[in-house]
Amino acid sequence: MATPETVTGEQARDPQRIAPFDRVVGARLVVFAITAVLIVFVATGVLSLTYAAIAVAIAAGAAVLGEAARQRSPGAAPAAAGAAAALATGPIEAMLNGLPDPVVALDRDGIVLAFNAPASALAPLLRQGEPASFALRMPEVVEAIRRASASGAPQRAEFSERVPVDRWYEVHVTALRLDRQRSGTRPDLVLMTFHDLTPLRRVEEMRADFVANASHELRTPLATLTGFIETLQGSARDDSSARERFLAIMKQQAFRMARLIDDLLSLSRIELNVHVRPETPVDLAAIVRQVTDAMQMLARERGVEVVVSAPAEPVMVAGDRDELVRVFENLVENALKYGASGKRIEIGLARHGGRAPEASVSVRDFGPGIPPEHLPRLTERFYRVDVAQSRAEGGTGLGLAIVKHILARHQGRLLIDSTLGEGAVFTVHLPLSGRERGA
Ligand code: ADP
Repeated sequence: MATPETVTGEQARDPQRIAPFDRVVGARLVVFAITAVLIVFVATGVLSLTYAAIAVAIAAGAAVLGEAARQRSPGAAPAAAGAAAALATGPIEAMLNGLPDPVVALDRDGIVLAFNAPASALAPLLRQGEPASFALRMPEVVEAIRRASASGAPQRAEFSERVPVDRWYEVHVTALRLDRQRSGTRPDLVLMTFHDLTPLRRVEEMRADFVANASHELRTPLATLTGFIETLQGSARDDSSARERFLAIMKQQAFRMARLIDDLLSLSRIELNVHVRPETPVDLAAIVRQVTDAMQMLARERGVEVVVSAPAEPVMVAGDRDELVRVFENLVENALKYGASGKRIEIGLARHGGRAPEASVSVRDFGPGIPPEHLPRLTERFYRVDVAQSRAEGGTGLGLAIVKHILARHQGRLLIDSTLGEGAVFTVHLPLSGRERGA
């Protein structure tokens, strides 16, 4: 059989001298190799079993047709001597190009045989016929290729890129032996499949940040509580006026911890349901009036006038009533907490027509406003313009994150606009319910 080792230089120069039997064996080898490659893709999660089965069928058909065509034109020269080199052309290249992840096929010496468009985007210097290490210079990758080629055992490596932005990848290097009768451990083909780990890493980073922030937020009131307990047990044991003062502060701190835990639980509950769109029709006008009434006491305490303009008739949206109440409570409370110096809050509910009919609710205050550099980050968890002011107001830094998540679930959006010194306006947009659209 014409294995890579047994094809002689003379045969390579004179393809007509390769026996028809060897050509059939060569075609089978190609199909076998493609099947092996597909098994690797299925095992590493790059491809589903169904697509792999279809690809094998196509490859088998292509190999048979290719063989028939070659039989008809015996003068046609093979691409190169050797089974691995033969894989560089035709079906395998087409197959690599059909895969979403970057994939590179090498020969046993690390020379690039084929690669797909995502691989070329990942490593623009990849060239057929050149060593892969020219284009993939990361030491971890080069070492994984070397080990896979030498031992035939599968290798995995991780690497990152810093420019133009931080990205993380893992690469699986799989050595394939196409001719099982050949002695030695060296493979005929080495296949590299890359996975982009960046989204996973970002989520991991966000989770770590979140846990760090949440712990820090809880630790601060906890430290205050512990401090006062020790003082009350020690020096202030018999000081009744100090005891009253300290107990009031301790109560405040305990409330703060409870609020934070409530907000954390709300956030995780809303996140769990973020893909489940609420379907119950609810009246936004009634919700806005309910929230405004509930906030009247706080408004009076702060000396703020709250003005509402809303249509008399219902404005129906598909929504979760309690969650929408939460949205407007947060926005009106923020306006009262941070914009009280403007002495006035305007809440406006309006209905908008057009191709996607929607309702909008704006909450406008006339306080100090928000510097523009903070606006894009306000809905991030624990992001606050002034941490001390937020804490003094009993804020957790989670209010606007909760608002954003609730609105995402309702397929709505939040727009924030502010002019320094003139106040801020938070506008919620929600699609009108089907019934309203038809009206
Ligand atoms: P908090 O619990 O701190 O109020 P939020 O997520 O509700 O958390 O708000 C985040 C930050 O956005 C607040 O700490 C505050 O700095 C700023 N902010 C929110 N609403 C207003 C507003 N109406 N005027 C000025 N700053 C605001």
